[in-house]
Amino acid sequence: MTDTPTQLFIGGAWVDAADGATMPVDDPATGEILCHVADAGAKDARLAEEAAVQAQEEWARTAPRARSEILRRAYEIILERTDELAHLMTSEMGKPLAEARGEVAYAAEFFRWFSEEAVRIDGGGGILPDGRNRMLLSRRPVGPCLLITPWNFPLAMGTRKIGPAIAAGCTMILKPAPQTPLSSLALAAILKEAGLPDGVLNVVTTSRAGEVCEPLLRGGRIRKLSFTGSTQVGRILLAQSADAVVRTSMELGGNAPFIVFEDADLDKAVDGAMLAKMRNMGEACTAANRFFVHSSLADEFGRRLAERMGALVVGPGTRDGVDVGPLIDRTGRAKVEELVADAVERGAEVLVGGRAPEGPGCFYPPTVLAGVDPESRLMDTEIFGPVAAILTFDDEDEVVRRANDTPWGLVGYVFTEGLERALRVSERLEVGMVGLNTGLVSNPAAPFGGVKQSGLGREGGRVGIEEFLEYQYLAVPVR
Ligand code: NAP
Repeated sequence: MTDTPTQLFIGGAWVDAADGATMPVDDPATGEILCHVADAGAKDARLAEEAAVQAQEEWARTAPRARSEILRRAYEIILERTDELAHLMTSEMGKPLAEARGEVAYAAEFFRWFSEEAVRIDGGGGILPDGRNRMLLSRRPVGPCLLITPWNFPLAMGTRKIGPAIAAGCTMILKPAPQTPLSSLALAAILKEAGLPDGVLNVVTTSRAGEVCEPLLRGGRIRKLSFTGSTQVGRILLAQSADAVVRTSMELGGNAPFIVFEDADLDKAVDGAMLAKMRNMGEACTAANRFFVHSSLADEFGRRLAERMGALVVGPGTRDGVDVGPLIDRTGRAKVEELVADAVERGAEVLVGGRAPEGPGCFYPPTVLAGVDPESRLMDTEIFGPVAAILTFDDEDEVVRRANDTPWGLVGYVFTEGLERALRVSERLEVGMVGLNTGLVSNPAAPFGGVKQSGLGREGGRVGIEEFLEYQYLAVPVR
């Protein structure tokens, strides 16, 4: 902890907030304050914007290979410091160390992937149909970006945006979530060490998100917003982006259906459910929120899932053998408690868990609810905790209709051994991603993102860099 920066990172320098404000960072496992970091205000936002705007032109002219090599070096440094970064992440966010190490590898991979993409930005062109004109197409960076990230994947949500922005030649301001600023500050230090020029990345940690971000979005100098967070906040930011017609990518909330058909392999389905539900303690946009299980299998599925969930060890993420860390804060835990209480009031049976322990920390036990009433609040609210809610169905058309009956459309999970059904149902689901007989879809080489109110655009994959590039078309007469 002693070496982790706690100041703002503006124009390549570590600086205090202009008004000297700081904010605490808590350890969710104990409720104790870990440290204080600088708490940026509007003036700091202006300074960060100025730094990003000033650096943009020269940065856009750097050789793609130079940008690629900075990302590659940063990728290697991140991997060398896996343990250090994992401890930092666990201390501010709570996830068990093994998961934090997994996130470090996942986060680093975005830098490796985009270091490879930086040198493959292509243009195009040719003779136009009239034969009189030529078209030359070139790609250019969209310009200075504002990147806003959530707390649940403190490192990977940053690298998933910073990687393509660097590869494309954009400068940027990163505003991480106030619960988890340390991972982002550590990442900035790594990028500086890897040779990133001053001003290309600026990090403003703040508890005053609106004061910092709104003037940037409305001011006309920031050309792109890349946001990951809730749909509710996403809507506000889309409205703020409209004034200056800022280009946006939005990775928003989910409400994933997890469908187990009567011909599913139950072992695969339970393994998949453990992954889709318990990754990150259920605090993931991809978390399975609604388990629809064919009525012929529901009892057996519920029993096996409850057995697996009940065997998980809950405790501080730094302790050996712990599978499930604390939730992010008291507010997050109170929301999970309310959703479970509502489902139980409406008749759900608690197969395991269901009651928060006494004592410090924001712990909540892995919980399985069976016979959940479709009207329960957790059916149309992201649970964001280790709670599996099981409903039953009998018919394919019915389950597809119920799965799609939500404003969200990030990911869906389908478990069946029938090839035709697998393809048919996957195609009918209104989602950006499908896990077919698997509970994990995230991969830096695949386009991540949702439809409907789960977002706009994609991150990662071949298309991830496109979000940070513009086309310029040049018309040239043939003769
Ligand atoms: P959140 O409350 O929407 O916050 C996300 C970020 O937006 C935080 O940095 C937050 O800072 C900031 N923010 C909030 N209001 C703002 C405003 N008016 N102006 C500028 N910034 C503002 O979400 P969260 O609770 O951190 O994260 C959980 C949500 O993220 C879930 O809905 C989850 O599904 C979603 N998520 C989606 C993906 C995806 O890829 N689709 C991935 C991970 C998470 P403050 O906290 O200071 O307000």
